[in-house]
Order: sequence, then C-alpha cells, then structure tokens
Amino acid sequence: MAYSYDDSNIFARILRGEIPNNTVAETEYTLAFRDIRPLAPSHVLVIPKGKYVAMDDFAENASAEEIVDFMRVVAQVAKAEGLSTGDGGNGFRAITNAGNDGVQEVPHFHLHILGGRVMGPMILLRD
Ligand code: AMP
Repeated sequence: MAYSYDDSNIFARILRGEIPNNTVAETEYTLAFRDIRPLAPSHVLVIPKGKYVAMDDFAENASAEEIVDFMRVVAQVAKAEGLSTGDGGNGFRAITNAGNDGVQEVPHFHLHILGGRVMGPMILLRD
C-alpha cells in the first residue's frame, strides 16, 4: 500500500504558514524549528517541505536533492546549536519515530535533534 499523507497534520500547517514556528534553519527543501515541548536544552525538529509521512516514505520517495539538503540541514542545526561533533560541541541524539509502533504523533516525517545534556540510555520502554 502507498503512503497516505494527511494534509491537516500540524507540520503541514506550519509549512503553509497557518501557525507560527520558531525557525532555526530553512532551505528550499527543508525546515528546522524548535520543538514546542522540548525534552532537552536543545530540541530541534528537522522536516522536509515535501509531503512525506515518515522516514521510510522519505527514504523511498524523496529526490536525491531533497535527501542531501535534509542531511545538510541536520549538520547546520548541530553547528548552530553548538552540538556539532566536528566543532568542539558535545554531540547530540537524533531520533525519528515512524508509525504506530514507533509512536509517531505527527504524520509528517521529522527528525528530532536533542542535545545540551547527556541523553542517557538509548531507549526506555514503557507500556
Ligand atoms: P513525534 O512523537 O515523533 O511525532 O513528535 C512530534 C513532536 O512534535 C513532539 O515532540 C511535539 O512536542 C512536537 N510538536 C507538536 N506540535 C508542535 C508545534 N506546533 N511546534 C513545534 N513542535 C510541535
């Protein structure tokens, strides 16, 4: 079955300019903005401007330009937030949740960039 994108999701509304966001970086294909409920001193979401439901949709269907641009913005955000491992920063954790079992809340692909503290164990499972 093909991926089915819901145009009413909150990140689609941000991209249409219907609700505000706290932008960290923006390019032709990619937007990075602060998470509204930060889970670390630095918590930035990187999203493609194209309509991709989750990481697998993006990886399968985005153009090479979109994918390269997305990853370059990740580097840009890490540098801007002082987290870059190549720039004297202490690093970060990147997380993407996909679908039901990934417990994805917003059905528009996004990568969480979290840093500014030691992030602890990779995952804690909770029922
Ligand atoms: P996920 O569970 O991976 O889908 O994460 C969705 C993330 O979007 C959560 O961390 C929310 O805090 C964040 N979020 C929801 N609405 C907004 C918004 N309007 N602006 C910024 N972040 C948001």
